[in-house]
Amino acid sequence: MRIEENVLLSTLTTFRTGGPARFLLLLDTADDVPRAVAFAEEKHLPLVPLGGGSNMLAPDKGVDAVFARFANGALARTDGEDAYLYSADAGVSWDALVARAVEDGAWGIENLSAIPGTAGAAAVQNIGAYGAAFSDVAEHIEAYDTRTHAFVTLSAKECRFGYRSSVFKEERDRFFITRVALRLPRAPQPNLSYKDLAKRFAGVSSPTLRDIRESIVAIRAAKFPPLDTYGTAGSFFLNPTVSASDVPALRERYPELPLFDLPEGGVKVPLAWFLDRVLELKGMRKEKAFLWDAQPLVVAAEEGARAADVRALAEATIALVKEKIGITVTPEVRILS
Ligand code: NAP
Repeated sequence: MRIEENVLLSTLTTFRTGGPARFLLLLDTADDVPRAVAFAEEKHLPLVPLGGGSNMLAPDKGVDAVFARFANGALARTDGEDAYLYSADAGVSWDALVARAVEDGAWGIENLSAIPGTAGAAAVQNIGAYGAAFSDVAEHIEAYDTRTHAFVTLSAKECRFGYRSSVFKEERDRFFITRVALRLPRAPQPNLSYKDLAKRFAGVSSPTLRDIRESIVAIRAAKFPPLDTYGTAGSFFLNPTVSASDVPALRERYPELPLFDLPEGGVKVPLAWFLDRVLELKGMRKEKAFLWDAQPLVVAAEEGARAADVRALAEATIALVKEKIGITVTPEVRILS
């Protein structure tokens, strides 16, 4: 384990904002996690697990905490009759895992191509895109429980996955994820239900994993800010969910609003539709932060943007949605203070 001090959070997060992290611990193996916990306890500072820093907004003044992330990670595969079982250390890049699965002929995460971040962070967020979610393929998660000071293995059920949520998010900073295990079927099961994909594959009877991955990469490249030019954390806001009893009133007011039933109950409201079609907020800006034109759920930060710009933009967006539409919006991004 390597200990660094006062490392700028702007170098550790994809938003590229943020002052110094009091400490940064670079972990080599899972055995370093209890050492990191002890270090933070000794310093009387909170321990903040860090993945790729792609879902976090760090404040300009910095954070008086111990950040810890894995410096590396390994990936292993076991072959079952109907499926492959992948075991990825938490620090493995999520997209490297997807690329490997696609190469191996393992189905289920190709729609989750090109999502930045690590395998460990994918479990916290229960990442999802184009009708696929991490939880669809999660077998179990290994973690260190900082409350009981023991390594634990949680079944997918115990992870309590929901729409962009999990026990790891609900009990923030209790579990330090060390490894994720996924079960990926060998039999083709393309999931082309989302509009953009359905359009691309109209008339194609058996698309390959590689075709689907390439399409997702291209679709995302057209919708998201290029990371070499802008700071961003992808979708800044969660799509709100409402109860079935709220639907008739929404339908009456907005007859063209698409609505989606969630498997865990409730109805998902596509926030981008309101931001674009009702509030016309595409491109809304606060200083150097603005809502991305091709997908207004996404906040982009220009070179030199401050976290305060991003926060001001997010707060203005949330306030407008509340005032004009009456829906409460919450950020998907973790905002550190
Ligand atoms: P889109 O397909 O234009 O649809 C807009 C919204 O409607 C999406 O947010 C999506 O919700 C929902 N939606 C569309 N078709 C759906 C269907 N058949 N069933 C259920 N919900 C549906 O959205 P997009 O902006 O191009 O995004 C496509 C995918 O990329 C989405 O799954 C989205 O979550 C994902 N994405 C991820 C990030 C990120 O950084 N985490 C940012 C933007 C988009 P869901 O978002 O719940 O799927």
